[in-house]
Amino acid sequence: MATKQSARTGSPLPGDSNRQSARTGNPLPGLSIEQLLSKESFTRSDIVTLLSVTGDQRIRLFEHSAKIKEAFVGNRVYLRGLIEFSNRCHKNCLYCGIRRDNHFVNRYTLTDEEIVSAACYAAENNYGSLVLQSGELETIGFAKRVEKLLKDIHKATQNKLRITLSCGEQEKDIYRRWFSSGAHRYLLRIESSGKELYEKLHPGDEFHSYKRRLKCLIDLQKIGYQVGTGVMIGLPFQTLENLADDLLFMKKFDIDMIGMGPYLEHEVTPLYALRHTLLPKEERFDLTLKMIAILRIIMKDVNIAATTALQAIDPMGREKAMKIGANVIMPNITPGKYRDDYLLYQNKPCTARMPTTVIHALKPA
Ligand code: SAM
Ligand code: SF4
Repeated sequence: MATKQSARTGSPLPGDSNRQSARTGNPLPGLSIEQLLSKESFTRSDIVTLLSVTGDQRIRLFEHSAKIKEAFVGNRVYLRGLIEFSNRCHKNCLYCGIRRDNHFVNRYTLTDEEIVSAACYAAENNYGSLVLQSGELETIGFAKRVEKLLKDIHKATQNKLRITLSCGEQEKDIYRRWFSSGAHRYLLRIESSGKELYEKLHPGDEFHSYKRRLKCLIDLQKIGYQVGTGVMIGLPFQTLENLADDLLFMKKFDIDMIGMGPYLEHEVTPLYALRHTLLPKEERFDLTLKMIAILRIIMKDVNIAATTALQAIDPMGREKAMKIGANVIMPNITPGKYRDDYLLYQNKPCTARMPTTVIHALKPA
């Protein structure tokens, strides 16, 4: 069994650097936080340093990212209504609670009527944008169904909604057909931009190929989608260098939107065996905030989601993320009876629909 120390071969854990900085008073060798924050471009080592700051330096990082957010994207909050329309999945990602081999999951698929009705709710409540998310199925029947749903939703809502799909890896032709049927954006997290770590998080078979994941992101960009990606933070084996590489990957790829959240364990998954190697949840939460802040600094006008997994650790998690850099919230508008069955990790908030009053308060001015 890997220990907390040996699970990470790179930079010391943030917790360890906290202790280090308490002793030395400054984790930034030869550079002040102001000098570092005012740099034009950031190296991997700059980002690792920023991920390690504590105390006043951490506060400065968040003040700086908040200022950049205000200057480049303002205080507008973009709402995307999330419909988790099916938890059926043919994949077996080692971290995910709805993976194929979890036979305790009650599998569901919303009916077309339920999906269109949730989409109409979003349109009537001025969401402007919808995310259709599901497990991954690569069948002709699934592809055709999504194609039809896209057309039905646009018809029922008089083309008022922009639609994001998040249905995993598909052939380029399928992505093209969905684009032609009215999908504008696609969310496909790279999960980890490093091949080595990616392979530790997935079974070593042709269904879970890093090369294919990357190809899918490239295909989506070529077709013309606005592409979203992201990573989990605080994974077993993950180092600060991995996280710095993830941010540099997003910048290099010129990604349009990003969803990053803490990794949270689920007991019916293989990765659960490594739970003793994980950072405490509060540290995973703080590291996620730092990732969002640094991303806002290096990709000033990108759309960044405040993810549900943040809220699973801290009830105010999404609000805290919005304050220091995020600008998108994805309220769950899946019909309530299905919510408990889309359990990616334990203690996932399965809250009721966001009240209309709150939505109106969040609406862009
Ligand atoms: N099946 C599609 C896919 O994998 O791209 C979309 C749905 S999948 C459930 C959406 C995201 O959930 C994944 O990209 C992954 O980052 C996240 N996720 C899965 N298990 C998680 C866990 N245990 N903790 C945090 N996030 C998790
Ligand atoms: Fe399926 Fe997505 Fe979960 Fe992987 S992360 S098991 S593809 S739902």
